Amino acid sequence: MGEPKCQYYDHRSKRVVFMPHCLLNCNAKYPGSADTEGVYLDLFQPIADRDIGIEQMPCLEIMGWGGVDRPLVLYKLDPEKKDADWIQSYPNLCQQEAMKVVDQIEDYINCGIEVAGVIYVSDSPTCGLTDTLAFPDVHYQIMSMDIIPEKLFDYEYKRNHIWPYLKSDGKGAFMYPMYKEICRRRLPVPFIPFKPSNPRRIEIERILGALGLN
Ligand code: SF4
Repeated sequence: MGEPKCQYYDHRSKRVVFMPHCLLNCNAKYPGSADTEGVYLDLFQPIADRDIGIEQMPCLEIMGWGGVDRPLVLYKLDPEKKDADWIQSYPNLCQQEAMKVVDQIEDYINCGIEVAGVIYVSDSPTCGLTDTLAFPDVHYQIMSMDIIPEKLFDYEYKRNHIWPYLKSDGKGAFMYPMYKEICRRRLPVPFIPFKPSNPRRIEIERILGALGLN
């Protein structure tokens, strides 16, 4: 970090926040996990109203698990083949994409633009930070629960009968390397959790408070 590279004589607010892909687009969520039709408007509207720009981070699960419906996890996961190529390469993919986002954050800061926060999804094996579900172990655990297939895609069933029983002893495959690199580069960026299983109003109030918007 040093002096900003450039001065802007325009209308930008010089504040941005980095958001997980699926909070701006719930259609990207893991099958059976979407709790909103499209955009978390109750989170984004107050941020937009306060003139903060929103950067949407990539969805690594779509990139690394075969697409929107995660076919690799849902149909190809085999506990007897834990060394499958796509499983082995997922942490590297996440690491590479995490470094790209950190570069982008650093570029903003070097240009005099404040990165007000990075929001993470605190129960995701990918966009969680610590104490989160672990990939691929969480999927082996779900397989061992012998759930009838259609219930795997049922939001209310998952919320009540699956998620509360999953182990949360992992680090997010994408978010944790990002956090470590932000710390290593000493970039002044707070990481702010969003926990989908908590009441949404409470989560949003807490995030807006952390961004100084309450
Ligand atoms: S990987 Fe991240 S962005 Fe994609 S659905 Fe999971 S939490 Fe959302």
